[in-house]
Amino acid sequence: MKLTVLYRGPLSSCNYGCEYCPFGKWKQSEEELAKDGADLERFLAWVEARTGDTVSVFFTPWGEALIWPVYQRALARLTHLPHVERVAIQTNLSCRLDWVRECRTEKLGIWATYHPEWTKRHRFLAQCETLASLGVRHSVGVVGFKHFVEEAEALRRDLPADTYLWINAVKDGQEEPYTAEDVARFSAVDPLFPVNNVRHPSLGRACKGGESVISVDGEGTARRCHFIDEPIGNIYAPDFDQALRPRPCSKATCGCHIGYVHMDYLELDRVFGSGILERVPATPLWRTAAPARVGLP
Ligand code: SF4
Ligand code: SF4
Repeated sequence: MKLTVLYRGPLSSCNYGCEYCPFGKWKQSEEELAKDGADLERFLAWVEARTGDTVSVFFTPWGEALIWPVYQRALARLTHLPHVERVAIQTNLSCRLDWVRECRTEKLGIWATYHPEWTKRHRFLAQCETLASLGVRHSVGVVGFKHFVEEAEALRRDLPADTYLWINAVKDGQEEPYTAEDVARFSAVDPLFPVNNVRHPSLGRACKGGESVISVDGEGTARRCHFIDEPIGNIYAPDFDQALRPRPCSKATCGCHIGYVHMDYLELDRVFGSGILERVPATPLWRTAAPARVGLP
C-alpha cells in the first residue's frame, strides 16, 4: 500500500514570535520536550516496521521542529529507509543545515516559510542557497498579509527563477479583505495564489484523506486530515489498516494547501507531481499555460 502520513506531535514551541501565531516564543518544559521526543521515536519505529508499504512522511508541527536535533536526525533516518519515498517538513528555516548532509537528499523536501519580521531576507536567501547547493527540493513562501506584499515581491526578485514562491492567502484575521490590486500583486508573485485564495467546496467530494493520506498525532491517533477531528483509528493498533478506506469529505469547504491538494476533482497532483508535500510544482510555473486556472472549480 502507498501511504502518506502527516505527523504532528505535541511539540508546540517556536523560536520566532509571529504575533498571529499561538505558538510564537512559547517555550516547553524539558518534560514536554522529552515526551515529544518519545512520541517521535515511537512513530519512527512504526514507519520503519512498515516495510511492505511505500510510505511518505510530512512533518507539520504546531511550532518549529527543525531547530531540534531529534527532528533533524529523524528526517535523516527516514530518508535512508528503502520503503520511504519522501520525507518533508514545514519549517521557518532558521536552523543550522549541517544535518542535511546525513540525509539522502533526493528524498528530502523542505517547505520553508519566510517571516520578514523575524529574520533578514538575505539570511533566509542564504539558507535557501545552501539547500539548493545540497540538492534539496524546497519551496519557499510568505503568509499573505497585505503588509507583506512588498517583501514578497522582493523575495521573488531575489530568489532563483526556478524556486517556487507560494503565498498563503489570509482568509481570516486580516484587517481588511484583499482588493483586486492585492490579488493581482500576490498573483504576480505566486501564479497559484488564486487557487489558495479560495475555500474549495469539499462536502461529499472524494479526497485521499483517510484512505492513502492520514494525519497522525503523538499518541498515534489517526485522522483523515488535520481539519476533521473525528479519529479513524490508532496507527499502533494491530488492525489499524482496516480503517483505511475511501471517505467523502464531511466538511463544507477545504481551504488549506495541505488538505485540498488531496481532493481528486482539483487535480492538483497533476500540478505538483512528486513535490506535492513540500509544495514544489512538477514544472516551473512560468512554463505552464495559465497555471492560475489549474484546479479552480
Ligand atoms: S515561525 Fe511559524 S510556528 Fe513560529 S511563531 Fe511564526 S508562524 Fe508560529
Ligand atoms: S477535503 Fe480537506 S477537509 Fe475534507 S477530508 Fe480532504 S483534507 Fe480533509
